[in-house]
Amino acid sequence: MAMMISMTRVTIFGARGSTPVSGAEFVRFGGQTTCFGIEYDDQFLIVDAGSGLTGASARLDARAGNSEITLLMTHYHMDHLVGLFAFPYRHRPDFRITIVSCAQSHGDFQATMESSIGGACWPVSLAESAAEINYHDLSESDGQLTRGALHITALPIPHPQSCLAYRVESPDGSVVIATDVEIENREGEDEFTAFCANADLLLFDAQFTPEEYDRVRGWGHSTWEQAARFARDCGAAKLILTHHDSTRTDAQIDEIVTRARALFPATEAAAAGMVLCLEGRES
Ligand SMILES: [Zn+2]
Ligand SMILES: [Zn+2]
Repeated sequence: MAMMISMTRVTIFGARGSTPVSGAEFVRFGGQTTCFGIEYDDQFLIVDAGSGLTGASARLDARAGNSEITLLMTHYHMDHLVGLFAFPYRHRPDFRITIVSCAQSHGDFQATMESSIGGACWPVSLAESAAEINYHDLSESDGQLTRGALHITALPIPHPQSCLAYRVESPDGSVVIATDVEIENREGEDEFTAFCANADLLLFDAQFTPEEYDRVRGWGHSTWEQAARFARDCGAAKLILTHHDSTRTDAQIDEIVTRARALFPATEAAAAGMVLCLEGRES
């Protein structure tokens, strides 16, 4: 029987934290805020709807035959949400969008959005979208969800107002996305390490440098050094540093990667437009 190659495609659409930025010093890693895509077969998952969601729209434009999107929200902070306001696929009557969130951690998504998207902050509410919008509350499914061949689990992680880490298992391997986490505030060793164990790809908050950390302790983010040590501890195959500080220039991110590689060699920094593939084989 012929071998068929399957592939899980992970795309960084936005890797910036706090606020979008632009300018010559931010070109290579991008100024778009958090948004990641995971594609396998006919499934299109998006994790977070930061301003990088424009890149996800472009990818959807190029991907024929898709009519379903699953949007996984890590939390409702604005840098993870701002792309949803003007997301063009909200206005596509041929599309179905499932927004996944955790009411127990963050409150009901739809109710929270009523005062912003469609409230005083934006003219077209989610309910007025032409696409069919469905909601899935992870607190009602034990933090788990299956979409086609993709199995998704979520875990609350330390961050002001909490954040969810997502682990997505595909037939090709595993991806963990842990943007917005202050690893030092972990309680009880160590559900989180087990959750991330042996991930093929670990996308991890590295907003700060160790030199900055004393000043920003409690803000809900980690340093590149903590990220590299954690990647080593949990047995990740590859670490992708993300949620770059809004002031961090391309040259400074290069330096962070060099320093992080001394602790964990398989480290890269997330850059808008970066595509990472997990490749498996099935007969
Ligand atoms: Zn953030
Ligand atoms: Zn946040």
